[in-house]
Amino acid sequence: MAKSEKTEGPGTTEGGSPESFEFQAEVSKLLRLMVHSVYSETEVFLRELISNAADACDKLRYEAITNADLFGDDPELKITIAADSAAGTIVITDNGIGMSREELIENLGTIARSGTEAFLQRLEGKDGDVQLIGQFGVGFYSAFMVADKVEVFSRRAGEDAAWCWTSDGSGSFSVAPAEPEQNPPGRGSTIILHLKDDATEYAHESRLRDIVKTYSDHVSFPIELASSGTTEEGEAQAPSQLNTASALWTRPKQDIDEAQYKEFYNHVGGMFDEPALTLHYRAEGRHEYTVLLFVPTQRPFDLFDADRRGRLKLYVKRVFITDDAEVLPGYLRFVRGVIDSEDMPLNISREMLQNNPIVASIRKAVTNRILSELEGLADKEADKFEELWKAFGPVIKEGLYEDFERRDQLLSLVRFRTTNSADGIRSLKEYVADMKENQTAIFYVTAETAEKALSSPQIEGFRAKGVEVLLLNDPVDNFWITSALGFEGKPFKSATQGAADLENIAGEDVEKTGDEADAVDIATLIAAIKQTLGEAVSDVRKSDRLRESAVCLVADAAAMDRNLEKLLAQHRPEGIDRQAPILEVNPSHDMIKSLAQRAKSGGVDETLEDAAWLLLDQAHILDGEVVSDPAAFANRLSRVLSRGLEA
Ligand code: ADP
Repeated sequence: MAKSEKTEGPGTTEGGSPESFEFQAEVSKLLRLMVHSVYSETEVFLRELISNAADACDKLRYEAITNADLFGDDPELKITIAADSAAGTIVITDNGIGMSREELIENLGTIARSGTEAFLQRLEGKDGDVQLIGQFGVGFYSAFMVADKVEVFSRRAGEDAAWCWTSDGSGSFSVAPAEPEQNPPGRGSTIILHLKDDATEYAHESRLRDIVKTYSDHVSFPIELASSGTTEEGEAQAPSQLNTASALWTRPKQDIDEAQYKEFYNHVGGMFDEPALTLHYRAEGRHEYTVLLFVPTQRPFDLFDADRRGRLKLYVKRVFITDDAEVLPGYLRFVRGVIDSEDMPLNISREMLQNNPIVASIRKAVTNRILSELEGLADKEADKFEELWKAFGPVIKEGLYEDFERRDQLLSLVRFRTTNSADGIRSLKEYVADMKENQTAIFYVTAETAEKALSSPQIEGFRAKGVEVLLLNDPVDNFWITSALGFEGKPFKSATQGAADLENIAGEDVEKTGDEADAVDIATLIAAIKQTLGEAVSDVRKSDRLRESAVCLVADAAAMDRNLEKLLAQHRPEGIDRQAPILEVNPSHDMIKSLAQRAKSGGVDETLEDAAWLLLDQAHILDGEVVSDPAAFANRLSRVLSRGLEA
């Protein structure tokens, strides 16, 4: 909690003096950027403040389900905007949930939201776009783009005390008890913006009307503009309602245009790209509910944030319940939007949602629907699907080990980079259709990057023969691929594990390049290497998967994939028993041929021993690993080089 000190200032009531608080460091930094704003889209401040007001109304309506008294004598939730061009102020009022003193302090200054740092980075980067502020949960602070002083009067529903939060955005804010006449009528919040000299345009009603139409028409509570004019009879004019104020998803599809969907998506998803898919339908079967969902085209900043669940908003009969329930499986967490149930009990607590059978049934049906829409998109608009895949593929792949029921369906959506396709959009269906004669498995190689996978020595033979290999480089790949059974009856097989069995597969280079070492000589060499390396390897054998490289490491068919083993060892070094690898040697490689000659004529001498260890070290290096004993490696290398130079 920030340290406080007593200071004098506005908003003081008799008997209550304001307390001053420091903004949290990141918030302070953000505010500096807002105060000295150079952004052209300052008008988004209004969208953000209206959005907060609407959330506050949603929260009140939810709490009032179990405590109707919270409504008091003011049950019509609404948002009011008033402008005073002479005074240069705008006032935004809501009769929603309001904030207690502690909430004002925490929410508006002392506790950094998880998105603050991420937003600062975005803003300072070359693609800095202030539009995105809402996505990062710091929208309130955009008020300081247009105001040099902001006052928030608030009273939490059900509490008596009202409070006034004040700041000029420079380092600190103050909180004081509010005077009764400054309170919002009853409960909720009133935000007064004292506009900067270059932002007074916002104090004009016509400007406010336009902004609300552009950004906030979808808000399901009435947004009223208090008029400063008078009627012919000299009475104050009644406020005019600026928005349609009916929940967008409840309207018939044909009455909603593209722009309205987009605006709603901006609001509900906090995203400002074009949605790749918009899904709007009403389910009427065992359960009745309305779905309005969007699949974005761009990644939200917190896609891989472990605590961040989906951002789907769950409503029951138009009452907002939560955006924290896992209505969709985790691998669809990028989907944004609203699901509104007709038959869930209104007083369902957020905790009860987890085991609710209606939620389970909605999850099942909506997940199926989204997957079939994605399949449809892949069929009909391949380009669009590929874009989407690039953004969300690694997330969708999580479903391959989390959702066994839909694994086949998900496998048909997955796109790969392969040895035959560099653009990363090859499907398994295409792979299987193009399999070589006598090829019985779908081959893959895993590595940290697709480039590393592509340069793996273990797949040289596959590439030379034109046998396609999937290049897997997302961390999740290591997990699903080892448990997936296969696709269309073809099992997945690691190209770095077990025998390659390339001989049987028909391919372009049936004749291998270069002559092989004599079979007996190579057997002698292999025996010598095996004897030298002892337990550092589980076997040494002749390779049919190498072409250019002299050696490579593979895992036994029954052992764990070496890349997965590596990944697990990184996380739990002591918890995993690493298996000694198999060293494969390339009988067509010149060096191996010379070594075989040497083994035949001279037995195991020091040079051969050095060579055996250097071959093993080389194979580890090719796999992106470090040599286990760098000093011994350096000594051997020097010895071998010296002997070579002397000869
Ligand atoms: P976000 O709304 O995305 O959470 P903001 O920076 O806009 O981020 O607001 C911070 C928090 O302050 C909100 O989450 C909410 O708890 C509180 N808040 C802001 N405006 C209001 C309001 N009008 N009524 C009640 N609470 C509010």
